[in-house]
Amino acid sequence: MELFFIGTGGGRINLLRRLRSTGGFRINGSLNIHVDPGPGALADGMRRHQDPLKLDAVIVTHHHIDHCNDAALMVEGMSHFGLKKGGILIGSKYVIEGNEKGDRGVDLYHQSLCDEVFTANPGKKKDFESKKGKFSLECIKAVHDSADAFGFKLKMDGKTIGYTSDTEFYKGMIDNYIGCDVLIVNTLKPSEDPYEGHMTAAQARDLIGKAGPKLAILNHLGMKMIMGKSKIIAKEMEDETGVKTIAATDGMRVQL
Ligand SMILES: [Zn+2]
Repeated sequence: MELFFIGTGGGRINLLRRLRSTGGFRINGSLNIHVDPGPGALADGMRRHQDPLKLDAVIVTHHHIDHCNDAALMVEGMSHFGLKKGGILIGSKYVIEGNEKGDRGVDLYHQSLCDEVFTANPGKKKDFESKKGKFSLECIKAVHDSADAFGFKLKMDGKTIGYTSDTEFYKGMIDNYIGCDVLIVNTLKPSEDPYEGHMTAAQARDLIGKAGPKLAILNHLGMKMIMGKSKIIAKEMEDETGVKTIAATDGMRVQL
């Protein structure tokens, strides 16, 4: 199994200026899963041989455009150009069911192309299965300015992958992410520049040190994290926590 990082940028500047892609990442194992397909998921993914036609599942953790913009395109791929119903779509309540005004992250037409559509709620656990394989998903609370955002622990092929999605650090978060082989932490900001609804490097370090994954990956990096700093920050974290920590880069592949 491998993780493939298509786009590792976070924040408004990356979103529009494309210093880094915002295409999300893939978990490629017995099933292929695309997580948070923001802008670039298709274009940057194809450039890096991450074919949406080979997808089995798409997970959209919240309705922000940098996480859901290309979700319908991924569903087009998963359903073979929309010609053959197939695949699993998992999303937050806002993404799947919409808000009170009817706004939603993935339109009903594209939802109808999937074999299975699941609305995630923190605390919910579910097993998913297709002809090729299976995985289980435990949805985890996120505190973010998009209603119903969630993180998760996903088990497949004997490995547990944790992903915080966008969230600020909250009481109980560490316990939620214990037991991961890999923990992907969306770390938008350096320690000295906190921002509501997101994690700073210092908070990521506390989470990683106490949750104790075998490997930690800093992802969804904002401009101040990218400008020459993220590798240094990851190395400092590793020295402080004793947990192997790497800062994700676009096109990075991690074998598990
Ligand atoms: Zn967000």
